Amino acid sequence: MALFISLAVSLSFAWILKIPRRIVFGILVLGYFVTLFAHFILPVDAPLLRATSGGDVRVWGVLGGAIGLIALYVTLLRRFKARAKAAPEPSRPTSNTFSDTELERYARHIVLREIGGAGQKQLKNARILVIGAGGLGAPALQYLAAAGVGTIGVIDDDVVDNSNLQRQVIHQDAAIGTPKVFSAQKMMLAQNPFIAVKPYHRRLDEVVAMNLFADYDIILEGSDNFETRYLANRVAAKLGKPLVSGALSQWEGQLAVYHPTVSGPCYQCIFPQKPAEGMAPTCAEAGVFAPLPGVIGAMMAGEAIKFVIKSTQPMIGEMLIYDALYGESRKFTIKQRPDCPICGQDHQDQS
Ligand SMILES: [Zn+2]
Repeated sequence: MALFISLAVSLSFAWILKIPRRIVFGILVLGYFVTLFAHFILPVDAPLLRATSGGDVRVWGVLGGAIGLIALYVTLLRRFKARAKAAPEPSRPTSNTFSDTELERYARHIVLREIGGAGQKQLKNARILVIGAGGLGAPALQYLAAAGVGTIGVIDDDVVDNSNLQRQVIHQDAAIGTPKVFSAQKMMLAQNPFIAVKPYHRRLDEVVAMNLFADYDIILEGSDNFETRYLANRVAAKLGKPLVSGALSQWEGQLAVYHPTVSGPCYQCIFPQKPAEGMAPTCAEAGVFAPLPGVIGAMMAGEAIKFVIKSTQPMIGEMLIYDALYGESRKFTIKQRPDCPICGQDHQDQS
């Protein structure tokens, strides 16, 4: 009995002194096994054994068994709780089912004859890559996210700058200085948590493009430089991926969909050579009308969505020019060039 009292006093001190539970538990286990061992080596009438269990080893056996069962129960309970916590939320995207919230969210799409439930499922399973999270990328990303495109990749090596915020509506003032891809990802998931966004904070080069494009169904190109445009066109044509391309200058925007594997030209058929140095001023040099990227970027998202749902005809083999200054738009046919080094028949015959 004396031993039990001293044990209770020791445990109280351990609790007051805030000794870690693991250490206290270790000491108790050690004490238990020492006492149990003592029963086998000491005579039955030894004073230590009388003080603890009246000399009967079965008392310690029952006590040890009971504590062991309780410890096992607590451990299993904790494990089940941890597993329940780690389980994915039921609302995350799954391949073929929609939650009630998603059905309600996409209802205006589902009632459209050309989209319906089947088209919305195709959108959920679609993978679209957007090059550039700037003027054109910002609205394109927002509409792709809102429309429920299941996996959206975005590649850009830039950080948000104060001067971007006049038109790049996906980024907020507080995001200045942070990488554009992470700022965009945050806003897209805040708007639609039922999609997955994959940010790639790096510059697009040949190797990255080959690996990345292969992983997506459609490529949207809204970068601000000609190197990236020609590179994206080259790799998309090589891998047979449709390329939705947008460009801006001051008050005028341009939109085209290139898919030479199916029909029509590639970007390089229409623009065989990069413009000479200084002939194509950047947005920073020439300026850009704030809502213009919104118009063209949203159209890019629209063409990409049309590719996914398949029941509509994307704008392949045509180019659209929108002039915001005069509120005019015009569309014309664009044709493949047989001598195009990327997709031309002459080139393919030689290779
Ligand atoms: Zn071509």
